[in-house]
Amino acid sequence: MIEKRLKTRSVNGTMALAQNIMELMLPAPRLVILKGDLGAGKTTLVKGIAQCIGANAEDVTSPTFTLVHEYQGTKLKLYHLDLYRLEKDEELLSLGIEEMEADPNALVLVEWGEKFPSLLQRARGAVVITQGEEPDERWFFVQML
Ligand code: ADP
Ligand code: MG
Repeated sequence: MIEKRLKTRSVNGTMALAQNIMELMLPAPRLVILKGDLGAGKTTLVKGIAQCIGANAEDVTSPTFTLVHEYQGTKLKLYHLDLYRLEKDEELLSLGIEEMEADPNALVLVEWGEKFPSLLQRARGAVVITQGEEPDERWFFVQML
């Protein structure tokens, strides 16, 4: 198990830190849960990771309503899911989560994935994001199996 605690003081800091976190996610399987309150910085981290893999980070927005967004990097594909509004395991399957997980060139990052025990079980790890003392300060606790 790899565990790392990292702190940032700004959105740009989080974008920069994404490189570091992405490298920890590279060994397959690449399903990772992003955990934290609304506004913690989960989507911001995904934006940073999109930039790292050579996808267009400008395009990254929250998939709150669409549930899944897909970005193509130079080598890796990034699937960004937000399951806040999802309730049933069947709905998760119909999103095609198993196909995403099976893609050897994909990174699957899931906000609110902890709602689904089946997903938690298959995840390689999690990034837990919490607010620091200052308004723009965030802690990133990375745990990878
Ligand atoms: P989530 O996906 O967890 O709901 P978002 O990434 O969409 O969160 O939003 C994070 C919010 O917090 C944004 O408004 C962003 O500007 C703000 N923010 C302030 N400081 C940071 C930081 N260090 N890292 C990430 N976001 C930050
Ligand atoms: Mg989000």
